[in-house]
Order: sequence, then structure tokens, then C-alpha cells
Amino acid sequence: MLNNVGRPTRPGAASTNGDAENTYTGNRALNLETPLIFEQGVKGRVGVDMREPKDVKSRMGGLERETDVGLPDLSEPQVLRHYVRLSRQNYSIDAGFYPLGSCTMKHNPRINEKAARMKGLGDIHPMQPVSTVQGALELIDDLAHWLKTITGMPAVAMSPAAGAHGELCGVMAIRAAHDAKGEARTRILVPESAHGTNPATAALCGYKVESVPADANGRMDMVAFEAKLGPDVAGVMLTNPNTCGLFENDVKKIADLIHGVGGYFYCDGANLNAILGRTRPGDLGVDAMHINLHKTFSTPHGGGGPGSGPVVLSEALAPYAPVPYVAKGDAGYFLQEYVEEGANQSFGRMKTFHGQMGMFIRALAYMLSHGADGLRQIAEDAVLNANYIRVGLNDLLNSPFDGVCMHEALFDDSTLKDTGVTTLDISKAMIDEGYHPMTMYFPLVVHGAMLIEPTESETKETLDMFIGSMRHLIEKAQTSNNADFFTQAPKFAPRKRLDETAAARSPILRWSAPEEA
Ligand SMILES: *Cc1c(COP(=O)(O)O)cnc(C)c1O
Repeated sequence: MLNNVGRPTRPGAASTNGDAENTYTGNRALNLETPLIFEQGVKGRVGVDMREPKDVKSRMGGLERETDVGLPDLSEPQVLRHYVRLSRQNYSIDAGFYPLGSCTMKHNPRINEKAARMKGLGDIHPMQPVSTVQGALELIDDLAHWLKTITGMPAVAMSPAAGAHGELCGVMAIRAAHDAKGEARTRILVPESAHGTNPATAALCGYKVESVPADANGRMDMVAFEAKLGPDVAGVMLTNPNTCGLFENDVKKIADLIHGVGGYFYCDGANLNAILGRTRPGDLGVDAMHINLHKTFSTPHGGGGPGSGPVVLSEALAPYAPVPYVAKGDAGYFLQEYVEEGANQSFGRMKTFHGQMGMFIRALAYMLSHGADGLRQIAEDAVLNANYIRVGLNDLLNSPFDGVCMHEALFDDSTLKDTGVTTLDISKAMIDEGYHPMTMYFPLVVHGAMLIEPTESETKETLDMFIGSMRHLIEKAQTSNNADFFTQAPKFAPRKRLDETAAARSPILRWSAPEEA
């Protein structure tokens, strides 16, 4: 069935039933309705005009595809407009406040982009001879130096491509260290409030994951932790500051206790932005910690984009670090690509090349443009902004744990009790207010959690507007008979509230052309 604009009707498209709120096109001024790209394709339409290649012999050994790939045929402007329209329907840190807790959505300064696009850095290839990429290798080495200095750790593995990949690197190093001692340890302790990637990493490395509950202050329960320690424990994975936005005050004791049973201390350092320049993980007894460059050092992320998760390592774990790493010899910088017999006990490689170069450049540009004093101020401002939000809302929303928070403010849903409005409803209403919702229902240790991370890059005016908007919504929720308002939100978004059950149970994974009437 085709509708009167020649486009197949589909769920979600504006109806043409004369509803006064609908336009003929389905567009609403700058808010353009975007059909699926498959709906736009017209057989035989092309975007480029290239000659048929002459006498090309098969280079695929007879394995070339025999059927059509099934991609839509489009003109170049159609492709461009499609993605530009989609990008405009997408919320981004460049468009507005993005308080997604635990994700650290901070501004990516444009000087970073400028540096990353410099010819000598942006146009090089990892397979070029090292003599032609000395500057790039020096940059990796410089960044490694800064990461070691900031964390007070002696070694760093640069290749991991994200936080979770960094965890994998750290736990593989822990495993290699135990293997080298001939110890077959079986358990890794992970606090209940851990990011989901922590237990996943430990399990992937073949360990049994044992969860440690949180105490009444939102920290790891030390009594439960001690009770679980034993000679079969390979290590502990602790997030600090943790996912409740709190500093683990007993971190030194945790390090001593895990070392006391011969285990290693993995610290999830994704939240380094809260302690940058104030606390060095190396002074706290950490053995391995990943740093999300795409959080703390502002490199872009989200949408599955490139991340970078270098892992700093203690003396004890450094020998097991992955190859390759940048080293310097008589002829300049080179990449130590292979495990030399006896020279080290590297567990192997994490990825094909040596890390996310574009992220390295941006992160170093960020560090150098801020300087040591600026980096420290980042942490201080991030913590100040989070506490400003905490104090601005905590007469209306309950903070489950007393006292000052670090880089993110955590609330539970207790003050919404009996209103018929849920954390999810508040999040949907925030979309109408023009905000990306906060992180919700995480951490799991808090009922109906709302985790708000403003980062340091927001102004007081932005925070005031946000607090005002949140106060407006919470007060509205607490006033009787407003549940309907919330269940209908978002009203102004390109798509209304999705039927999540239907999306999970009967997803449409392949679009097929409707039959012509
Ligand atoms: C973001 C985050 C991770 C995972 O990092 P990715 O780069 O998304 O893999 C792990 N732990 C914590 C605490 C995080 O905030």
C-alpha cells in the first residue's frame, strides 16, 4: 500500500487521516520525517558515474558473489540527505545537555579535532614503515608517559579499544601472572554495584564471579569482602569512584587484603575524571586499571563509535602486558611486535594494530591544552557540578546515600511512590524538555535509580535550567492525576514511546517492498 506522498506507509509514519496536527509530507518544519533508506531506493538509480572496468580478471578465485547484494539504488544527494536528516533526529553532546550517568558525555574541544585531522597524523596507515611514522609513535609514547604520570603507575598497555576491552586486557594480565606462578585460582570478587562489563570480563577469562554486596553507605561491604577472600581468589574488580558516584574510602585496605591472599587489584578506572590530579591509583595499591580516553579525556563516544581504553599496570603485572608497545632504539621509535623469548612474558595481542590512533591524538591534545592545573580543575569542576545538581534536587528526590558525591549524583524513586509515575516516565518527559535522559535503573543496588552526570563542561546556567526542568517534572509527578501526562511522553519527539515488548518479541529485521496495489 502506498500513501499519497508515494511512500509506503509504515508504523510510525505520520498518518494522513486529516488530523490537524499532521502535515501532508509527514515533516514538521525542520523536523523532517525520514523513511527507511530501503524505501527510497529505485532500481537502476546511481550515485556515481564510472566506466565498466576493462578485462578485470577474478581476484576472488571464483568466490565472487552471484546474487545481488540487496542495497538500495540511490542518487548521491539522496544518500547525503538521508544521513543528515537522521543525524538531526539524533541527540548529541554538541546539541544539548547529555547527563547520562557513568558515561561522561563531555564536550570534545575542537582543537582535538583539528589535531586529529593534521595530515601527518590523520592520513597515515598502521602498515607504513616505522621510519615514516616516527612522530605518531612519539605521540603514543608521550601519551603513555602522561597516563603513567597521572595515575602514578609504572606501565601502560595502549592497544585496548574500549573500557571493556581494557578490562579484558587487565584480567588477562592477572591470569598470565597467576599462570606464571603455577597457580590455578578460580574466583574473582566483584561488588554488586559494578558496571556490567566487570563480571562479564571475569567470566570471559574463565573465572567464577562472586558478587560482594554494598553496605548502607553505598560502598563495598568490607565484612562480606573479607569473608569471601581465600587462596583461590585471583583478584577483585572494584570501580572507584564507584557506580553510585561515591569514593570507596576503604580502597587502601581493599588493596592490602587482596594482596594478602596473593590476588591482584583490578580497578575500573572509567570514572577517572572525578579524581584526575587529586588521587593517583598507583598510590592506592592498584595493579591494573583501564582509563576510558573517551570519557575522562573527552574523545567522542556513543553510538558504538571508536573508544580507547589504555590499561595502566603495576610492576607485578607489567611483564605480562600485551604487544605491541612503542619502544625507542638507536634508530628512533619502533614497535615491539613480538614476544621475545625470555625478554617478557606478554600474554599476546589485544588487536590487530597498536590502538586507536585518532583517540590518542585527541586525548593528548586535551591534556596539553589543559595542562596539569587544568586537568586537576576538570575533576574539581566535575565534582562541583554533580553536587550542585544533588543539592538542587534533594529536597524533591531522595539521595540513597548521605553526603557529598563525586562526579555523578544518584537518586532513587522513593519520592515517586504512589504517584503512578516511574523513573522511566520521568526520563521520557525529559526528552520533551530537550534533554537526553539520565542513566536510569542503574546501579541496580538502588531502586528506580536516576544517575545524573553533568561533567565539568556545563555552565551554571545550563545546570540551573536542568534543575528547574527536573523540579518541574518531579513536582508535576507528585501532584495527583498527572500520570497520564507522563505515560504520553515524549509528545514532541520524532517517535513517541515505543512498544518495547513488541519490539523485543516481534522485531522487523528486514524491510521488504510492499506489494503494489
Ligand atoms: C563506561 C564504563 C565501562 C565500559 O567502558 P566501554 O568503553 O563502554 O567499554 C566500564 N566501567 C565503567 C564504570 C564505566 O563507566
